Amino acid sequence: MGVRRGALIVLEGVDRAGKTTQCKRLVQALRDSGKEAEMMRFPDRTTMIGQLISSYLEKKSNLEDHTGFSLEWCQNPDVGLPKPDLVMFLQVNPAEVAGRGGFGDERYETSVFQRAVQQKFEQLIKDPSVNWKVIDAARSIEDVHTEIKTLSENAINIAENQPIGELWK
Ligand code: ADP
Repeated sequence: MGVRRGALIVLEGVDRAGKTTQCKRLVQALRDSGKEAEMMRFPDRTTMIGQLISSYLEKKSNLEDHTGFSLEWCQNPDVGLPKPDLVMFLQVNPAEVAGRGGFGDERYETSVFQRAVQQKFEQLIKDPSVNWKVIDAARSIEDVHTEIKTLSENAINIAENQPIGELWK
């Protein structure tokens, strides 16, 4: 019998959509049901490059911003990476969630920038080669969690018997 693989599950969304909250809940729920699960976050601020990005985001250093580049240019570094088995986009109105604890002081934590990010996501979601699911994340933490857990369990069952895909190839 071959070794069954795990699933790569991604939570996406603008700042304060609830990614961290939901990811922690999901990992805990999967572990409680006897599955191994691990949370990863990007950028990983513990690596050398991550520290550079972190200091830039915290406005402690300046780098050239590159925000004028196209979506395709931004996608390029990720082409060919392991394709997620499921990407759940936590859909919220950026203006509404600005009230969730308020934006911090980091670069890009502004409503104007978050609206632009939301629009780029809407373009990416149209790509049928990636298994996107749009989640209404304006509901309670519990309701959002229930949906995310069900979708994740399905994705885990399907991924077991499938090869790992390559992103955007
Ligand atoms: P992200 O990781 O997407 O930036 P967080 O999970 O850190 O978002 O959540 C941002 C803030 O919003 C936190 O204070 C969190 O407790 C709160 N929050 C998360 N989900 C909800 C929700 N469904 N309803 C209300 N508040 C929420």
